Amino acid sequence: MENKTYVVTAAPPNPNGDLHLGHLSGPFLGSDVLSRYLRQTGHRVHHVSYADEHSCYVPRKAAEIGEDPHRTAYRFAQRMERSLAGGNMLPDRFAHPKQDPRHVEVVHDLFLRLWERGRLEVRTQRVFHCETCDLNLYEAELTGLCQECGSTNGGMYCEACGWPQASDGLAEPRCHFCGEAPSIVDEERIVLPVERYRKALRNYLDSVDLRPRPRDFIKALLAEPLEDAAFTRRGTYGVPVPLPGWEGHIIDTWFAGVCGYLFSLDTLQGGMNSERSGRDIWEDPETAVVHFLGFDCLYSHAVFWPALCMAEESLVLPEQIVTNEFYQLEGLKFSTSRGHAIWGSEFFEEHAADAVRFYLARTSPETEETSFYRQRFDAATRELGTYFGDTAELLVGMVRRSYAGRIPRFDAAAPGKYTAMAQERVDRLAAAFDVRTFSLRSAAEELRSFAVETYSEVFRIYSLGQETAGGGRRLHDLAEAFLRLVVAAYPIMPTWSESVLRHFGAEVSWSLDGLRTWPEASVNLTGDALVGPELRTPLARYRGQR
Ligand SMILES: [Zn+2]
Ligand SMILES: [Zn+2]
Repeated sequence: MENKTYVVTAAPPNPNGDLHLGHLSGPFLGSDVLSRYLRQTGHRVHHVSYADEHSCYVPRKAAEIGEDPHRTAYRFAQRMERSLAGGNMLPDRFAHPKQDPRHVEVVHDLFLRLWERGRLEVRTQRVFHCETCDLNLYEAELTGLCQECGSTNGGMYCEACGWPQASDGLAEPRCHFCGEAPSIVDEERIVLPVERYRKALRNYLDSVDLRPRPRDFIKALLAEPLEDAAFTRRGTYGVPVPLPGWEGHIIDTWFAGVCGYLFSLDTLQGGMNSERSGRDIWEDPETAVVHFLGFDCLYSHAVFWPALCMAEESLVLPEQIVTNEFYQLEGLKFSTSRGHAIWGSEFFEEHAADAVRFYLARTSPETEETSFYRQRFDAATRELGTYFGDTAELLVGMVRRSYAGRIPRFDAAAPGKYTAMAQERVDRLAAAFDVRTFSLRSAAEELRSFAVETYSEVFRIYSLGQETAGGGRRLHDLAEAFLRLVVAAYPIMPTWSESVLRHFGAEVSWSLDGLRTWPEASVNLTGDALVGPELRTPLARYRGQR
């Protein structure tokens, strides 16, 4: 397999609160798992995201709590970063656009490229206006019913069906601040006429392996003429429009979204003027961009930004777009206002990140809404302790009692029975982690049955005291099979995987790009493998709960 460069992105959350398990179960876990797997298989990965600090949900939240919006954005973005770090899913760069003036440069650069090439148009759009608040209302400043599916919604993309709302399209609109019904006024906006790219978008999206609901959504959306996508709007909280006569107008954060990724990539590389800037990477036709996002961000990632890349003519189009549906808590929607949420930063203090990651992967809302259930999580965690933790300990126990802690050594010949079985499992896992067929659920299920199978054999041989069969060949075979499981578990359970491997004397260097470590190449027990003095796997502390 050829080594490629990947840009893997996780959709930016609004820093108007911490991240709860619902947020973490989606784009962040998915992009982290894929990035780890791609690195294991020898590819170069830039895993980026950022806090959407320019979102209009930030000043709305700030007004509610009587705080300066810049402070609100900063505070929550920091907290999000801690939550992500707690779950071992912090991207290589989680950028904070408002903290770095270079973000504005990246946004202006892209805007002016499009403007100067005549790709953007000035149009008059009809928008909602609140007389009482003297404000043109936008996204978070509005509530009403989706023009497409009728569910309660803000003024932008529908959370339920993903449909983009026309600027005056929401039914039964109300001002979020005063509750009054708004009037409709004209507003000059700079737009991208997305309709020009509809045919090209259809062709392009045929090459992307979308999941079923996104596939249907795109088909329905592209069957009819597309509305202009607004780049600018009246406002003060955001990046100003860099053109004379447009004072008091800002560049919409939805447009700037793709710039957020570019900016994040840029800062990772050392800035726009570095030897190989974020743009250099994104313009390289060999680069593969993979987006992870919630279904409600599908329009921006699959339609608006690809059209923008086509208009701009140098940024490569995403190779894959992976969506998720909503994740619930005990069968009900997560709700910050009702306190129905489990916050990442708190949960990771009490629970091993690997156990949480495994459960979130196993219940991942890939094609339908799924839910976190506390009792099932506890049961699943105990199970992990048995199938993963105990297997390691029993194996180490046999190596100690019969071979003084040194795994019997055999030069590589035909793989033993267990190793051959394990290799089949590894191949199936590779399919679950593959970019085109990526599935956290399949990966977690596959990993679980792999562990159950390994555990039963290890437990049986341990109980019967048969580890010396074949002059140690059986134990060697079992250890090889088990270590394949350990390496293949790394994308989902990195802490456990690394600690067990280290214990078995394996070098762990997965953070390095370009070094292939996926099972068949990395697990090599032909050298001296001496098991460490004490095995403390990160899952062991759940023993007491059994
Ligand atoms: Zn809708
Ligand atoms: Zn109002």
